[in-house]
Amino acid sequence: MTEVQTETGVLAGEERMLIAGELQFTSSGAKFDVVHPASEEVAGQATDGTVEDMARAVGAARRAFDESDWSRDLEFRYHCLTQLHEALERNKERLRRILITEVGCPVSVTASQIESPIEEVKHWTEHGKNFTYLVDNGVHETPLGPARRKIHYEPVGVVGAITPWNVPLYLNIAETVPALMAGNTVVLKPAQLTPWSGSEYGRIVAEETDIPAGVFNVVVSNANEVGAALSADPRVDMITFTGSTATGRAILAAGAPTVKKTLLELGGKSAHIVLDDADFNAALPLAAMMACVMSGQSCILPSRILLPRSRYDEGIQILKTTMEGFPVGDPWTPGNMQGPQISETQREKVLGLIKSGIDSGARLVTGGGIPENLPTGYYTQPTLLADVDPNSQVAQEEIFGPVLTVTPYDTDDEAIAIANNSIYGLSGEVSSADVDRAFGVACRMRTGNVTINGKSHFGINSPFGGTKQSGLGYRNGEEGYKEYLEAKTIGMPD
Ligand code: NAD
Repeated sequence: MTEVQTETGVLAGEERMLIAGELQFTSSGAKFDVVHPASEEVAGQATDGTVEDMARAVGAARRAFDESDWSRDLEFRYHCLTQLHEALERNKERLRRILITEVGCPVSVTASQIESPIEEVKHWTEHGKNFTYLVDNGVHETPLGPARRKIHYEPVGVVGAITPWNVPLYLNIAETVPALMAGNTVVLKPAQLTPWSGSEYGRIVAEETDIPAGVFNVVVSNANEVGAALSADPRVDMITFTGSTATGRAILAAGAPTVKKTLLELGGKSAHIVLDDADFNAALPLAAMMACVMSGQSCILPSRILLPRSRYDEGIQILKTTMEGFPVGDPWTPGNMQGPQISETQREKVLGLIKSGIDSGARLVTGGGIPENLPTGYYTQPTLLADVDPNSQVAQEEIFGPVLTVTPYDTDDEAIAIANNSIYGLSGEVSSADVDRAFGVACRMRTGNVTINGKSHFGINSPFGGTKQSGLGYRNGEEGYKEYLEAKTIGMPD
């Protein structure tokens, strides 16, 4: 983790949203509070956009797609998104403080949520510039004689992007920049708990780039109905969504009447299979650390640890020691690696699931409550539950807190079966001294991505997506860019 030197202190972001090229408040003037989760204090406000505001934003995006050259002018898009990259760089420290203010993310671990997405803007800009939009697919025999076929990759149209609160700037960028570079117009609806990571992005686009009015819109709102309106609007061609599986189902249903293209990155309940030959002292401290960084509010967190019964007590002891020594506290203090949960509601949910685990027979090894030295702020103790029944609620539901569950197994087959016993299939991890053996296990895990021995699967150049109820489609890699394009085949005389 990089130690970031930055100005510290709560910082309020842009209150206005961006619709049709204008930074604006909703017409009633209604606002909602943004709370700093480390102090429980109101840090500022955001405009409370309505369904009508969303309809205006979709109209603006529709007109910009249908009536401007944006979708056809690759050079201009390259120019605008290069400007965006430079503008985000200039605003980097401001965006970092807003992220910490909204999410409570420790300053020491903000690089993956600030530097990485800004770098991704550069990546998509270059990728989009160099992408081959016209492919000659050769000559094919048909009953009417030979036909040459060309594949033309074209933007989908108006893209609605709906994002969650856990990594807000990262996902606002990941969902919108490849879409824009591919020639789509966009309406972004950021999460209620993190409106400024969206509205600041809108302000930067409006004030510091030549992106034309209507091409990029941000509608900030405290109401779920506003996201629902975006996902149901017949003028929207595609929804790109990151969030819970429950909301993903609602978005699919809302888009069904117009058969909307839908890209879904949803919840996870990933397992880490620690094989009996693994280096426990390398694998398990890292596993415990990953559970606590971001307060466990990570979709890809391998939160279900599966330990071989032959080395069960040894594994639990290592996890316990790491969790008990983990630096939890004020996110503005460098060195702290775990901040608060984002809200009281989220912490209640985490504590409720821990209790349900204990009620169903799990053993509380450490944690389980609120740290005594941190009575203010939505902090949760790093928590380890052992002897967890793989069918229990705590082993089946996404916790989104600094909690690991541990379940013993006897054979590799049994470990794989426990790992696959989930409605989710987002990611997973295998640890073993034998990489081939680990690879074999990884291939049998019904999940979109797997990390072996701590070597992360996640990166801009490789497709990332969930199987089962963890999602549809991909971000990142060539697959991720193509999600924002339609492949049109044109047959023509040879
Ligand atoms: P959420 O589903 O509650 O909300 C996500 C977004 O959807 C918010 O902007 C919200 O306003 C909007 N929304 C809510 N109801 C809606 C509806 N009916 N129609 C349209 N939009 C609606 O999720 P959250 O609590 O903000 O985020 C946490 C979830 O996100 C977790 O499940 C986590 O696993 C998931 N997540 C997944 C990934 C991934 O890449 N798979 C990444 C990050 C987070």
